[in-house]
Amino acid sequence: MDDLKKITEIIESAGFSHTERIHMETVELMDEVREMCQNGNCGMYGKNWACPPGCGSLEDCRKNLSRYQKGILVQTVGELEDSMDWEGIKEAEERHKKRFLETAEKLREICPEVLPLGAGTCTLCKECTYPGAPCRQPEKRISSMEAYGILVSDICTKNQMKYYYGPDTIAYTSCYFFDLSS
Ligand code: SF4
Repeated sequence: MDDLKKITEIIESAGFSHTERIHMETVELMDEVREMCQNGNCGMYGKNWACPPGCGSLEDCRKNLSRYQKGILVQTVGELEDSMDWEGIKEAEERHKKRFLETAEKLREICPEVLPLGAGTCTLCKECTYPGAPCRQPEKRISSMEAYGILVSDICTKNQMKYYYGPDTIAYTSCYFFDLSS
């Protein structure tokens, strides 16, 4: 079995609601998304090594991403009782994060250079060391798609993945990139 088949098998069996292959020409790193981080959209700007500015410039991200030839989007969709169902939102988020991190570990075994980009900031440590001390797990830390300047709704649309599943649902989207050149 070749690596791409193994990768696909691992991702397909992880329990995500939806998965979709990324056409690499649709991966656009946008200054506007970085500006949303800087404007405090999620409140993690300047608070974590995996978020800007700690994760490097958009040019650094572009350079890093240029090594990768394949990508796969993964998504968890949660059903909510109503739009105020905070417990349901949290539960879907945790379910997605658990699947995403466990899958990243399995993928690392066959593709050590995998680049996982998550939904939200890096939470591998209880408290991030930023900015006082170096990152505790630089090989494993996980930036968000937004930290890389990727507009999630845009990349979903361009790769035939829905982004919005209607009222009383919540969708968490992440992705993995692979260097299969060797
Ligand atoms: S691995 Fe730990 S120290 Fe490094 S970015 Fe993530 S939370 Fe911060």
